Amino acid sequence: MTRRIVVIGAGIAGVTTAACVSEVDGVDVVVLDRGPRGSLLGSTGLAPGLVGLFNEAPVLTKLAQASVHCYTDLSDRGLNGFDRVGGLEIATTPEGQREVERRSELTNAQGLATQVLNARQAAAAAPALVDEPRCVGAVHYPDDGVAHAGVIVAALADRAAATGAIPVQRCGFRDRRPGRTGASCTRGHRRVPHR
Ligand SMILES: Cc1cc2nc3c(=O)[nH]c(=O)nc-3n(C[C@H](O)[C@H](O)[C@H](O)COP(=O)(O)OP(=O)(O)OC[C@H]3O[C@@H](n4cnc5c(N)ncnc54)[C@H](O)[C@@H]3O)c2cc1C
Repeated sequence: MTRRIVVIGAGIAGVTTAACVSEVDGVDVVVLDRGPRGSLLGSTGLAPGLVGLFNEAPVLTKLAQASVHCYTDLSDRGLNGFDRVGGLEIATTPEGQREVERRSELTNAQGLATQVLNARQAAAAAPALVDEPRCVGAVHYPDDGVAHAGVIVAALADRAAATGAIPVQRCGFRDRRPGRTGASCTRGHRRVPHR
């Protein structure tokens, strides 16, 4: 039996979901978005894309690691999905320095590398960002980086389409009556009621 799955929203979460479930046998996937394909109307189109792997909740660190693993394999028109440029947490007070060192220890406890830097080392690592006279110290996270959302969304949408997912453009979902939701598609003017 074929299962039919509708993913609403073609931001990074929607296309990742579509790409994953479209690889399962016996599943038909349709992706609906209110905007034209590739327009990134939601948060995905606004994010600069910093991915800091460490989170005090280990499950969220694992999720970030899995996301980076996925993004690292993606490219679109010669551009990478993820650049491992590293990250810095910068302290400008002694209390701030204690906090970044506390986070560094928690990061190491989850198996990720960090390096505690003094102000001179921090300024050398990121001269455009670190004002050495104001800096007390910093922690470097070598595995952090920048996710390029446009590249990732385009590559995952192509991957989903290659395994049979159908992208539908300009399709807005909204509640029409209590207990019911409808899809109103400007392309072809289809209206599909669902319970
Ligand atoms: C200014 C800013 C900076 C950020 N910076 C970072 C960062 O540096 N690092 C980081 O990890 N995260 C960052 N985030 C958060 C990150 O961007 C979001 O968590 C992520 O993009 C959410 O993706 P999404 O696919 O869930 O939602 P969205 O990207 O918002 O996608 C939702 C999609 O659903 C569609 N849609 C909505 N309503 C309907 C409807 N009724 N019918 C049909 N389609 C609909 C929209 O058109 C949109 O395409 C930032 C967010 C913002 C706003």
